[in-house]
Amino acid sequence: MPVANNLLAHFNNIEHHDPIQKIKKNPLNPFEYSKRISNKVQNIGGKNPPVILANFSEKEKITPATLFALGYKYSVPLDKWHISEMATDYLFVGDNNLNFETPGTLGIIYNYNSWKKHKKGFPMLSVNEYLSEIEKSSKMNIINICFSNLNTQLINKLKSDKNAVIFLDSLNKNTVAELRRVFVKLINNDLNTPVIINGKYKNLSHEQLQLSASTNLGALLLDGLGDGISIHAPNCTSNQKVNSLAFGILQATRTRISKTEYISCPSCGRTLFDLQSTTAKIRNVTDHLKGVKIGIMGCIVNGPGEMADADYGYVGTGPGKITLYKEKAVVKRNVPEEDAVGALIDLIKEHGDWTEKK
Ligand code: SF4
Repeated sequence: MPVANNLLAHFNNIEHHDPIQKIKKNPLNPFEYSKRISNKVQNIGGKNPPVILANFSEKEKITPATLFALGYKYSVPLDKWHISEMATDYLFVGDNNLNFETPGTLGIIYNYNSWKKHKKGFPMLSVNEYLSEIEKSSKMNIINICFSNLNTQLINKLKSDKNAVIFLDSLNKNTVAELRRVFVKLINNDLNTPVIINGKYKNLSHEQLQLSASTNLGALLLDGLGDGISIHAPNCTSNQKVNSLAFGILQATRTRISKTEYISCPSCGRTLFDLQSTTAKIRNVTDHLKGVKIGIMGCIVNGPGEMADADYGYVGTGPGKITLYKEKAVVKRNVPEEDAVGALIDLIKEHGDWTEKK
């Protein structure tokens, strides 16, 4: 109930939003997933999974330790960066000057005027800067745009630019509807510039942020819209949690798998083992298996059907007995419960999906 109430509160807030231009020709099919076609610029757009852009532009100082929250850990004795599975792709630092070697996998984005001085990384430009004849990056230019900016002049310039990426904002309370309207306009104008969607939140609890960002950004990603996301959430929660939320949204929308996925039944009177402690036990030994989906189901009656498209299944078949599945096929029947987690690991190893935990 508290989650449902918070969700309702999120949608109550969008009542009486500013008007959004009507759609005359809708290119989006709500019944079929299809990813919007976009140009590839660096590792953004094209067939790349969506990227994550973190925004530290308001920080007074950025040090190697600051990047820990983004999945990068600097080892002083080895003079090397350790990069986690949930390492952010791009970092917008505004006018900050970074006086250390940043990880090679992290693209740094500066405000245009700062970028102009040192030409490191990539520039973030306003629409006016982009439309003027100033020097630009030969690799990638990121342009901060909202719906009202999308006029013919800008559309034509973007169409002929293979290095442009849109950083898309909405000031409308009904963010999803306005951003979807932008995508409709881009598609109807055959404009394939990749888009990073910027979700902006302020003074929310961690849970409210989870609900707001997931419903806004997730809804668009599920429609195949967006080549990246950014969550700017000052005074909401830790940077580490914001980063984890961004990866979680991509994982939940199945647009970028960066961690193990678990599909578990809600449990009911038929459940044949302690679902909570068993799930915790399985997670404990498998949560480093990026991209592997494990179904944990309480009974044989409905479990196999409810496992959806899990790669491996752990299903209760009788008191103290577990049956293991590889996709929809039974591979080990009636394994004693105390041996079942070990047998699941063996099964994952047999199919080449196992790696040792670091
Ligand atoms: S899989 Fe079985 S135990 Fe789990 S919720 Fe469904 S019926 Fe109940």
